[in-house]
Amino acid sequence: MKRTHTCGDLRASDAGATVTLQGWVNRRRDLGGLVFLDLRDRYGLTQVVVEPDDAAAFAAADGVRNEYVVEVSGLVRERPESQRNDRLATGAVEVVAASLSVVAPARTPPFVIDAAAGAGDVNEELRLKYRYLDLRRPGALAPLLLRHRVTQAIWEYLSARGFVQVETPLLTLSTPEGARDYVVPARQKAGAFYALPQSPQLFKQLLMIAGVDRYFQIARCFRDEDLRADRQPDFTQLDMELSFVEEEDILSLNEGLMAHVVRAATGKSVPMPFPRLTYRDAMDRYGSDKPDVRFGFELLDVTAALRNSAFRGFAAAAEPDGAIKALLVPAAQAEPLSRKALAELEETAKRHGAKGLAWLKRTADGLGGPVAKFLSPEETAALQEIASAEGDTLLLVADVWKRACTALGAVRLRLPEVLGVQVPQAELAFLWVVDFPLLEQDEETGAWTYMHHPFTRPREADVARMESDPGSVLAHAYDLVLNGSEVGGGSLRIHRLDVQERMFKALGFTQEEAERRFGFFLEALAHGAPPHGGIAWGLDRLVMLLAGVASIRDTIAFPKNQRGADPLTGAPSTIDERQLRELGLAVVGAAEA
Ligand code: ASP
Repeated sequence: MKRTHTCGDLRASDAGATVTLQGWVNRRRDLGGLVFLDLRDRYGLTQVVVEPDDAAAFAAADGVRNEYVVEVSGLVRERPESQRNDRLATGAVEVVAASLSVVAPARTPPFVIDAAAGAGDVNEELRLKYRYLDLRRPGALAPLLLRHRVTQAIWEYLSARGFVQVETPLLTLSTPEGARDYVVPARQKAGAFYALPQSPQLFKQLLMIAGVDRYFQIARCFRDEDLRADRQPDFTQLDMELSFVEEEDILSLNEGLMAHVVRAATGKSVPMPFPRLTYRDAMDRYGSDKPDVRFGFELLDVTAALRNSAFRGFAAAAEPDGAIKALLVPAAQAEPLSRKALAELEETAKRHGAKGLAWLKRTADGLGGPVAKFLSPEETAALQEIASAEGDTLLLVADVWKRACTALGAVRLRLPEVLGVQVPQAELAFLWVVDFPLLEQDEETGAWTYMHHPFTRPREADVARMESDPGSVLAHAYDLVLNGSEVGGGSLRIHRLDVQERMFKALGFTQEEAERRFGFFLEALAHGAPPHGGIAWGLDRLVMLLAGVASIRDTIAFPKNQRGADPLTGAPSTIDERQLRELGLAVVGAAEA
């Protein structure tokens, strides 16, 4: 190696040494007689001074531009007190160039790459197209470095506890995780396709049947879903599976692992054990199965008080599965709830399926608001017990229970911003949501479908009701939640062939269909499966939250944009006729420009 130090190494104690540095020119300043170059690499910035009495170096420096790769040799000199830069680790010194050469010239970059500045308002599409330039900024690289510490900590912790890292196939059969598959045509068998795995679910279960006992993998997964801010078509999971365990074992192992990972990645300590909420409670109190508990405003249930309401908007209260959920905004915080703010909150509720958002405000002489006049004296009295102080405001959604919870839960999430309430951003509020239902009913077709995936184990006591009352069956399934985001999810698995067959039946699979799609797996189950279970963490999302960045794209070296395309390589792209022919494919309808 030619360089003796990186651009982040030199300190006052190095003064007097002769060094060689290589790096990019972060900034070039020409102060008449002197040229200053800030040299940058992954490790930091070092100031280089080129003095005019060194004619060759000075001439070379004259031609140097930002982002040129240069090599500099020279003497380390302490900067005068007044010229020190305390914000730079190398800020006490500079290198006086004795020789300077251009290793590689560079085009003018499409945006300014300044180590000290953030991305500024550089358009994200442009940053992704030139991601290799974007990553030259320490701020852009930091999430990748943190990500590395996270994976390293995972390997450490799990290896020390007997876990084995096993890779599973990427070209495989469909694994049902509720999304569309990405498929890959098979050249050897025209008309046949591999699916890219939505998760290694079935393979990790097969590894348990094989006796591997404790498995993990930092696994790539592929799901063709509508993209949102925190979704990518290909993403990474920490995937794990354990044999001869119960739910408790998996939860406590994961708490220990998470605390270790967070400490290694951020230095923060995480209080354990993590709080647990049942799915029912999470929905009832927060209107979400991934509640953000860093702020209050818990949902209340006023169904009983309004059961006989004459107001048509509250008719849901009389239905068997109907509910009226309420949020109380205390008078002291209700000031910003103008008509406009209320209308905006109602829009939020409607976007989440509610028909509307009713509001009532406690006044000097009762309850005010558009629906107040429809309430009976008893109903008014009951609500006044909740909205007990003048100015207290109630926000209400009436609907089937789940929709009422979800819609008002979405309104709850808007409240901090609308009311100007601070959410402690630095807090890491982990919790478990447990006792999920095994099945949920499709709102349109009424058909029962799995809530996690079809291999999730129902609670022993509930199995008998799988056919008679599918909605009441709870699963051994759990989600790990951090600050209102789901960062992990898993379950105990069905390890008995008879139960798995019943499950497929409950999902409406015919025998043939189950055989065709999962025959290999059903056969494996018939060969003696240990009781087992596991979990997968969404690694990108976890890193995003730990790094405090806004998008999972910031945690991925070469991410896709929100349309699932890669602005750097141009993927996805069309393929040529010859490739299509080899694959036995013909394209019907042209790819969009
Ligand atoms: N395969 C599941 C998922 O990807 C996780 C699990 O059940 O372990 O969400």
